Amino acid sequence: MTGQAGEALAPAFKESPYWWEAAPRPQEDPGPLPRSVDVAIVGSGVTGLNAAIPLVRAGRSVLLLEAGAAGEGASTLNAGFVGRTLKHSFGELVDKLGRDRAVIFYREVAAALDHVETIVKGEKLDCGFRRCGRFIGAPSTRAYDEIAREYDLRERHLGEPFAMVDQAAMSQEIASRAYVGGAVIPDLAAIEPGRYQLELLRVARDAGAAVAPNTAVTGITRAGDGFTVRTPRGSLEAREVLVATNGYTGSPFGWLRRRLIPFHGYMIATEELSADTVARALPSDRTYIDHRHNIRYLRRAPCGRRVLFGGQTGGPIRNLKAKAAELRRMLIEIVPDLSPARVSHAWTGRCAATFDLYPHLGRHDGIHYALGYSFAGVPMGSYLGRKAALTILGDPAGHTVFGEGSFPSFPFYTGHPWFVPLVMAYYDWQDRRA
Ligand SMILES: Cc1cc2nc3c(=O)[nH]c(=O)nc-3n(C[C@H](O)[C@H](O)[C@H](O)COP(=O)(O)OP(=O)(O)OC[C@H]3O[C@@H](n4cnc5c(N)ncnc54)[C@H](O)[C@@H]3O)c2cc1C
Repeated sequence: MTGQAGEALAPAFKESPYWWEAAPRPQEDPGPLPRSVDVAIVGSGVTGLNAAIPLVRAGRSVLLLEAGAAGEGASTLNAGFVGRTLKHSFGELVDKLGRDRAVIFYREVAAALDHVETIVKGEKLDCGFRRCGRFIGAPSTRAYDEIAREYDLRERHLGEPFAMVDQAAMSQEIASRAYVGGAVIPDLAAIEPGRYQLELLRVARDAGAAVAPNTAVTGITRAGDGFTVRTPRGSLEAREVLVATNGYTGSPFGWLRRRLIPFHGYMIATEELSADTVARALPSDRTYIDHRHNIRYLRRAPCGRRVLFGGQTGGPIRNLKAKAAELRRMLIEIVPDLSPARVSHAWTGRCAATFDLYPHLGRHDGIHYALGYSFAGVPMGSYLGRKAALTILGDPAGHTVFGEGSFPSFPFYTGHPWFVPLVMAYYDWQDRRA
């Protein structure tokens, strides 16, 4: 590649996730399928695995069916930000649903973050989980005021800590002139997503769960008390089925597809820089995100010598090299000190939003599902995966506010999200105006 894009890329540039260097995807022979299981789980990301562990421990036989290599979906492709995020802000929910209902939603969002910490610590998962805090950058004074209002409300009603940071103090957080200040949420966390998924996989297998990689589910039909699950490698019987396919939900799950809006997320890693350069750029070593419609997010890599950056979510993808160059330009716009950095890795993964912007756990035609996390699936997928397992076990603790109410679709929508690039272009226009 020549020209601007070529100069942005390191000689060893790879179209491959940075996280897979430390946590390569297992290359395994799927082996023969069992004739029957108690629970078949479709998808081996954080949702599927967080469901599998309590199910096998309760004595159920569990098979995770995965179309690709184990954990090949977004669970190992994300930025590893573990926050308390819902697409609807707390202030918006208070206005719409009243204070008490808003608190119920946000208490569960907080429980999702705590669940990740509990499973990491309880199972001794070696995946770099740390409560490093998050800096939210405000690109304008209006954004600064919006952040202050939202987090003040959250502190008063939910007890969540935060501190506003003005422009003068911001240099202790990030070497950027892109923001007029921002907020620090000191107890939010980060994780290494590739290792988190691999560690969950290890625990699930040690507990007795089976995994069939390269085994795409092509159809599910009712059979007696349970279901027949079809794959190109044969069929099996399952008493219960959980669909945990989020942004990768395909045609075998038409009812869910009509309720999910899949979209792409994009990330890059810089080549190795000096540890000093990275520490000067991101001195507080938190996760960093900005308060825009189309967010940009960055963090240090665990080695402390690279920066990981994501943006242009939902945009179209034609050429990942050109996308990598564009993301690098955005990164340098935010942190000019990183201008010597070229891109060593670029990758993309799929997420899913829903029409009401809530994640959903539920059951349709007897088949359980947990999905629709809109970019917050590390905590919400982990949490709702566990809730789905408890529901299957008949445990009342499986109840969640994200399982209440209907799961809306949109007239004539078939699962082809042609409008996502238009919506994102509109968001970009709003961000530029702001
Ligand atoms: C670039 C990017 C950055 C992100 N950053 C963050 C972040 O910082 N924090 C955060 O909380 N969230 C983030 N997310 C979102 C998060 O990664 C997802 O919400 C989460 O991983 C969803 O997990 P999951 O287990 O439900 O689905 P996935 O991990 O996507 O797994 C679904 C699996 O189902 C499999 N599958 C699909 N169909 C079939 C079939 N028919 N048969 C068998 N298998 C099938 C797929 O192959 C896939 O492996 C990000 C996402 C992306 C793409």
